[in-house]
Amino acid sequence: MEQRTVVRCAEGHLFSTATFPMQNLGTARLGPGRLIRCPQCGRLRSSVPADVSELSGTQLARAMRLEAAEFLA
Ligand SMILES: [Zn+2]
Repeated sequence: MEQRTVVRCAEGHLFSTATFPMQNLGTARLGPGRLIRCPQCGRLRSSVPADVSELSGTQLARAMRLEAAEFLA
């Protein structure tokens, strides 16, 4: 199984992505967020990793079903 990251867009939507490159890119260079096309907004949004410990099981399950299809660094 691939590891997916639960992220939160600037509008507060939760979704998941398999391609969040947290380890390889310095956060100082690009800022804390990444531009990801949010499946709920349908637009590129600055998104940050969500703190999964703050999410309910329902929120987490919903985010895992909503996978971002497109990624732009
Ligand atoms: Zn959104």
